[in-house]
Amino acid sequence: MEMAIQAEGLRKRYKDHQALDGVDLSVPAGTVLGLLGPNGAGKTTTVRVLTTLLRPDGGHAEVAGYDVVGQPDEVRRRIGLAGQYAAVDGLLTGRENLTLIGVLLHLGKQAARERAEQLLERFDLLGAADRPARTYSGGMRRRLDLAACLVASPSVLFLDEPTTGLDPVSRMALWTAVRELVADGVTVLLTTQYLEEADFLADRIAVVAGGRVIAEGTQDELKRKAGPDRLDITVAHRDTLPDALAALRPGAAGEPEADPEKGIVSLPLGRGIGSIATAAVALESAGIPVTDFAVRRPTLDDVFVTLTGRSAG
Ligand code: ATP
Repeated sequence: MEMAIQAEGLRKRYKDHQALDGVDLSVPAGTVLGLLGPNGAGKTTTVRVLTTLLRPDGGHAEVAGYDVVGQPDEVRRRIGLAGQYAAVDGLLTGRENLTLIGVLLHLGKQAARERAEQLLERFDLLGAADRPARTYSGGMRRRLDLAACLVASPSVLFLDEPTTGLDPVSRMALWTAVRELVADGVTVLLTTQYLEEADFLADRIAVVAGGRVIAEGTQDELKRKAGPDRLDITVAHRDTLPDALAALRPGAAGEPEADPEKGIVSLPLGRGIGSIATAAVALESAGIPVTDFAVRRPTLDDVFVTLTGRSAG
């Protein structure tokens, strides 16, 4: 499998703070890796090293087949970077911004204009193309920013918290645009604070904490690490919770837990459907009325809490 991004043991220290403490990553070409982690985990530092903006103290990384330290120009020619803050010029129109970048990249005036036109259309900005970018909404600016880093047709795209602060409709528009790029073969590394963003966009997720990748896998693989599916049973009368626990314990795959405030007993589902039937029969035999039976799969947030001891939200 061809790797678009490969990093081994990346280290970076800021004075007395070890921001990266041996980051290993590999991203197959044409896929999306979501980098998740609490604030200060080292996500942005990782992106800055991989995009040649920051020199690592140790380790090795290749992007699009080139060494980020030894061949930074080759890397830069093949990547795009869109950050949290739009890098477009607010005084220029959307069309002027994109054309200017094409000219600066030596595409030639005609080709730069054509590329700008394609991107304006792709990002649904044709209607606003002749307005100064400072009059754009947050979502439009972010789309223009993404378009700007695609002028050079990069094969690897880095998105650092691309939708922070956007409303749900703008976020979905940006997600759709990213998916289209991936369908065209672009590789994406995305940092995000939004678990649903990683869930929606990423093929694989790397969880970063304390400057290291502490877990990596597909969403399903990570969710399995957070424990089994659970059955949440809401009892009709809270004072029956102790009896419900006693009734469920013998057939349970693990210790059932009670939430007295919500009147819920939560049971790990060791044997899937079989465990649900066993629980239902046990409660029925003990004469304990219930109002709700719900199967709950671990979420990425559960994964996050299990791995980092903190909630992502
Ligand atoms: P966030 O989600 O808050 O953006 P992050 O995972 O992107 O966090 P980084 O920005 O990579 O984290 O920062 C990692 C650590 O390095 C943090 O503790 C941060 O305070 C520190 N750090 C980052 N840049 C510098 C700098 N220029 N000088 C000193 N310390 C820095």
